[in-house]
Amino acid sequence: MEPVLFKFESPAEYYEAEVFVLWCFDWRFDRLLDKFKARFRQPDYIKWAGGAKALADGGADREAVLNQIRLSVRLHRPRKVVLMAHADCGAYGEFKNPDDEFAHHSAELERAAEAILREPDLAHMEIESYFADFSGLRRTR
Ligand SMILES: [Zn+2]
Repeated sequence: MEPVLFKFESPAEYYEAEVFVLWCFDWRFDRLLDKFKARFRQPDYIKWAGGAKALADGGADREAVLNQIRLSVRLHRPRKVVLMAHADCGAYGEFKNPDDEFAHHSAELERAAEAILREPDLAHMEIESYFADFSGLRRTR
C-alpha cells in the first residue's frame, strides 16, 4: 500500500441521509451548495451537468441519475430528494431576461420531480426544488 498522502479522519460508522441532493457541477455554486447542504443531516448528493436537467430531459442521463437516487435510498434511506437548477447554466442556452430564465427552470424542475414520482419505487419520495442565481437560492417546489 502507498503511504498516506495526508492524514484525515473520516467517520467510519453507518449513516442515514436526510436527503438526496442533485446539483449542477458548476463551481460558481459550490459554496452555495456547501451552505445549503449544512441544513441537512448527512446528505447524499451528486453533481451532474445541468443539475435537474438530466431528469427533465430523459434518456440515459435520467436513468443514471434515477439509479443514483435508488442506490442512495437503498443504502442511506433518505425520504426527500432536493433538485437544483441555476442561472447562467452552461447546459442551457441564453435567456431573454431573468424572469424567463426563472420560469423556464421552474418548469424544468417540475418535469424533473415528475420523472422521479413516476417511478413506482420512488413515488413515495418527498421532493423539493430550488433555483440558484448569483444572489441566492429560491424554492420552486
Ligand atoms: Zn449548470
